[in-house]
Amino acid sequence: MSVVRYLCDQGITPLVMDSREQPPGADKLAAAYPDVELIAGGFDCRYLVQATQIVISPGISVETPEVRAAFDMGIEVIGDVELFARAIANSPARVIGITGSNGKSTVTTLVGEMAAAAGLSYTLGGNIGIPVLDLLLNPKELYVLELSSFQLETTHSLNCIAATCLNISEDHMDRYNDLESYRQAKLNLYDQSKSVLFNREDLLTLPNSPMNQNSFGLDAPEVDAWGGAEGNIVRGSSVIMPISEVALVGSHNHANLIAAMALASSVDIGREYLVEVAKQFTGLTHRCEVVADIAGVTYVNDSKATNVGATVAAIEGLSEHLGELILIAGGDGKGADFTALATALERVSSVITLGKDGDKIAALKEGSQSVKTMAEAVALANEISTAGDIVILSPACASLDMYPNFMARGDDFRAEVGKLNA
Ligand code: ADP
Repeated sequence: MSVVRYLCDQGITPLVMDSREQPPGADKLAAAYPDVELIAGGFDCRYLVQATQIVISPGISVETPEVRAAFDMGIEVIGDVELFARAIANSPARVIGITGSNGKSTVTTLVGEMAAAAGLSYTLGGNIGIPVLDLLLNPKELYVLELSSFQLETTHSLNCIAATCLNISEDHMDRYNDLESYRQAKLNLYDQSKSVLFNREDLLTLPNSPMNQNSFGLDAPEVDAWGGAEGNIVRGSSVIMPISEVALVGSHNHANLIAAMALASSVDIGREYLVEVAKQFTGLTHRCEVVADIAGVTYVNDSKATNVGATVAAIEGLSEHLGELILIAGGDGKGADFTALATALERVSSVITLGKDGDKIAALKEGSQSVKTMAEAVALANEISTAGDIVILSPACASLDMYPNFMARGDDFRAEVGKLNA
């Protein structure tokens, strides 16, 4: 809808195709744009090969045979982010680009909060919240964009002032041949940025060739880089703030915060605003979010953990805690190899699995119990937990086999936990 609106505003009437027989929103499209034709139930090659340009949703692989055929004939295949990039190319607007396997939304939101604290004219969007082309309805001086690997595959001219790839761990292996092609899709962002921020503790995020670059990490940094030393967040040898004053919990989140500080300072947001936000920002919903304390058991909703890396980070982040950790996991594994989860599962006392690929996770831990619904999962977790324990929903999988999205899954968890109190 966002792309159709944008093109129609430019005087271009697109043809819309959707693989689904009954695409959601078809009625809205017909009502708002009666001149726009919708072909549902598949991709029709005859039209695709006649297109001037194909704007593809990030949900559809560019390797879809019908799309590939058009591409091979020389027809340009781009995404909405590329249209956005071209639209702002001659404006003074600045863009900060954020990608990575995990932490994108957290970092994007943090940078946005820092820009807000500094009183900048800014907005954020992309893979979070508002689609990029809709951001142009209310132009700003600074755009903070969360970008997925799929969006980056079809984006070439973003021209960011600063960009980062926060980390790389396996995800979306149903769409990539191997980790390296997934990584290259993400690093494509670096070629579209004046300066690059990489994670020196994750070598996969290093640029392929030297660039105008800086790094972040939790360790002590060299010269002008960002990191941690003696309990403080530091830039080179200057202290930014004590880590004890940071509101976010978990070392992965501290790394996210440091990355956000580095990005914000690349658009000259002053230290006082970085510190102000760091003291206040407690995290986003569905990401290691405490939803209830019932009879001394803490229930944590980490529904956004849609890959193995995120669940490992959650388990490690909570493993200092004294009680037992009960994990609810499973869903659509997107072709992932779950073996990287096995070591982390040693720190978990009980595993409850559900969803399409739940059994693959259950196979990694003896005594795992598999259930059919979230209601059963929460009831079982309640039965086996005692005061001082943590029950966490951190699925390591996408939600689409059981829910419309990860938010609905997290909300279901929260609702079922809520019923325990009743
Ligand atoms: P994204 O937008 O990349 O999906 P989010 O900020 O929404 O990232 O967090 C997604 C999941 O990843 C959450 O479960 C969160 O706890 C976990 N996570 C956040 N930051 C990191 C990180 N730096 N490393 C590993 N996992 C992380």
